[in-house]
Parts: sequence; C-alpha cells; structure tokens
Amino acid sequence: MLCFSSPAILLRRTDYGDYDLIISFLSLARGRISVIAKNAKKSRKRFSGLLEPFAKLDIVCRASRRNGMPVLQEAAMNHVYAGIRGDLFETAYASYWTELVHGWVEPYRPQPEIFRLLDYCLDALGSGRASPHLVSILFQMRFLGLAGFAPHLDACVGCGLPLERIPGGSVVFDLAKGGIVCNGCSAEQGRFRMTISRGCAKRLSWIRGYDANAAMRLRFDARSMAEAQRIMEAFVPYHLGRVPKSLKFLKDVR
Ligand SMILES: [Zn+2]
Repeated sequence: MLCFSSPAILLRRTDYGDYDLIISFLSLARGRISVIAKNAKKSRKRFSGLLEPFAKLDIVCRASRRNGMPVLQEAAMNHVYAGIRGDLFETAYASYWTELVHGWVEPYRPQPEIFRLLDYCLDALGSGRASPHLVSILFQMRFLGLAGFAPHLDACVGCGLPLERIPGGSVVFDLAKGGIVCNGCSAEQGRFRMTISRGCAKRLSWIRGYDANAAMRLRFDARSMAEAQRIMEAFVPYHLGRVPKSLKFLKDVR
C-alpha cells in the first residue's frame, strides 16, 4: 500500500536540514512511525502549525519508493489535549509518557492498546478531570503491562506466597526480580531493593486491573502517592535501561 491514513499522536519533532521536519508519531494503524514533513520548517502554513506536541492528528502519508521514510502528505486536527502546553507541570508529565512511547515501542507494529492508553491519559491530563500524579501512575502501570514488564504485586516473585500472607506492614520490592518478595526470598542481598507498604502495593495492582475510569477514582493519600511515584519512577527506568531525560525534568518541576 503506497498511501496510508491514520489517527496519530505526535511524540517528537526534530529539525531535518533547513526546510524539513522529522516527526515521530504513535499511529493507530501503523504503530510508532517516523515521517518526513517536507517544507514544514520553512513554512508554518504548509501544515497550518499543527505539528506541535500533545495533539492527535489525522495524517495521510505516502510510503517512500526506496524503502525510505514515509512522507507526510496531509495533517488535520483530530483532538488537541487542551491545557497541557500552557502548564509546565502537565507538559513535564506528558513529555515523560511520550518519551517512554518513543523510546520503547517497536516501530511499524500496530499497538492499538498503547495508542488508546496514551490518548486516554493525555486527555485526562489536559482536561484536568483527574490528578496528574494518579494519571501518571495509571500510564506507567499499564504501559509496563502492555510491554510485558508489569510488576508482580499480588504475591512473592520468588515463591508465590500471597501478599496477604507476607507478615509486616511493608514488604520488599525488588526491581531486578520485578516485584515484591517475601522475607524468606529477600534474605539474599540485592542492590535494587525498595520497600513498599501493603496498601500501596494493593492500590498499584488495582490501578492496573480496574476499568480506567474506576481506577481514576482510587484514593491515594499523600504518603501512598509519594511511595507509588518512587517505586514506578525507579522501576520504569530500570527496565528501560536508562533514565528518560524527561523524567529528570519532571522530578525537577515537581
Ligand atoms: Zn518468597
């Protein structure tokens, strides 16, 4: 197919020479794609100023003849996640999520669930209908799940002992093993250990399993939220293999 069209969320834009831009999108039809937008840098009129972060566009692309990068032919606004660009804090969260998608999602493989997750979270953030901290926990938990790295929170990753039967108010969370470990299994030394309260482990598990709108109504007190952020923002880079630049920025802003 030489031409394709799809809703697509803009992830990143990069200058390419004096006239063009390279745009990375998460598209519904083709997954993560990079396309060239000719003359978009020289003339804002070419794409009516639409190629800006935190928007969902309807794009039409022409596949290049020699296996090169597809060329962006047309773009129209589908949905702008209003409010994000004008708010430093929301920009920091949205940049973090889009960087995760840009850096982690395999290109040219449709990922409709990740597309819907990012769309839902950017919309919830921009519309202000849920706490940005909570939306970010939801994004990270579900993104990790879809990427095959969901943390194990219901039972010890070593022996399968259920969380309810592990004694103590808090349990060890082992980044390398990918979840909580009981006292017996945590006897060996490990560098990548944190502690997590029982309540926080349960909430993280619920936030992944519940319907998204129900998950957005979960209550986290300030301590649980700080704990959830600390765990998720350590676990995600650990499995990504590097700390996203935007996560450093997010921590500074927060
Ligand atoms: Zn165990």
